[in-house]
Amino acid sequence: MDTECLFCRIVAGEIPTTVVHETDTTIAFRDIDPKAAVHVLVIPKTHYPDIVALAADPAAAADVLAASAAVAEAEGLTADGFRVLFNTGPYAGQEVFHVHAHVLGGEPLGPMLAIR
Ligand code: AMP
Ligand code: ZN
Repeated sequence: MDTECLFCRIVAGEIPTTVVHETDTTIAFRDIDPKAAVHVLVIPKTHYPDIVALAADPAAAADVLAASAAVAEAEGLTADGFRVLFNTGPYAGQEVFHVHAHVLGGEPLGPMLAIR
């Protein structure tokens, strides 16, 4: 655990969140500032700073992907569709450097990127 990392502290139970899904290796909780009707963050319990580091551990990456799909199912998003994204680095505006999948849905999400 990285004691300076906000999401490691959530994994440790030091910061309260609304948990919607949990496995041995992942936890999913509602985003504190939702950008869609449903906005859940899915994280590995182990600290990886971004998707590049996560991808170096294929089992952990698969667990995050499977948990994201399970969240979409549990939140009732699969029929109408949803979006899963990983902001990575400064161009994407990554704010928390503990990798997280944003699972977004519950309403039409608009264009994929605001700049196009
Ligand atoms: P990113 O910009 O991809 O790094 O996304 C970080 C996300 O974490 C943002 O959508 C924030 O709203 C969210 N966030 C920050 N602090 C918390 C928190 N304590 N609980 C839940 N979500 C949070
Ligand atoms: Zn962390």
